[in-house]
Amino acid sequence: MARSERFACTPSHRRQLYNLPMTHVFGLTGGIGTGKSTVARHFAARGVPLVDADQLAREVVTKGTPGLLAIASEFGDWVLTAEGELDREAVAAHVFAHPEARARLNQLTHPLVRALSVQRVQEFASLGHPLVCYDVPLLFESKLADVLRPIVVVSAPLEVQLSRAMARDGASREAVLARIESQLPLADKVSQADFVIDNSGELTETLARADQVLAALCERLGVDPGRYPTPRSP
Ligand code: ATP
Repeated sequence: MARSERFACTPSHRRQLYNLPMTHVFGLTGGIGTGKSTVARHFAARGVPLVDADQLAREVVTKGTPGLLAIASEFGDWVLTAEGELDREAVAAHVFAHPEARARLNQLTHPLVRALSVQRVQEFASLGHPLVCYDVPLLFESKLADVLRPIVVVSAPLEVQLSRAMARDGASREAVLARIESQLPLADKVSQADFVIDNSGELTETLARADQVLAALCERLGVDPGRYPTPRSP
């Protein structure tokens, strides 16, 4: 079997986290600017519901939440804006420079994100969805690989990552490079993937590959691929 299609999922892994016999959760990850969100939107357009870890991470620290209160009592009121919201820029700069602060922040927020992800997955399961895509940019770094297989990794060469992220965020090459270098090397993520979607070329090629991967996921997980039809050409 090709390395990009290695399959290491067992039903017990999925049950450990989500305890849902009829719904399979697969992980979607990659590097900065490789195209995770683009692929996630495509899966969603095919009918696969999406849980977005970045979105959950924002939700658990919105104004007045226990998550935000815990961060403020741990680090001090400087983490809050005048409006009582999380000062994302200040916190990001602080944890970028202080790895121990990043670890503490993760200890506070990761359990909240995980609990909310379970809740979201259960909501989709109760609607009868056989597949749920969980988009987690730091999936491997957060040691979630064992509970989110099969894992789809979206990859692109470094120069492509840099130019797309710089264009999207209006950021400097140095700033994007620093973010890329703060993560596990993309090659390591690719080597641990069950499926790889190469997003180095035209979007149409990437989306065609994403459809192939979705069909392969259905086959491996025993899900009817007819639930996720490819629209017919006009
Ligand atoms: P991040 O983790 O940094 O949020 P991401 O992996 O979710 O990034 P996207 O936001 O999906 O990446 O893509 C990065 C940028 O590149 C976006 O502006 C997107 O529209 C663009 N893009 C993605 N794929 C392609 C492609 N094949 N051709 C051209 N542009 C692309």
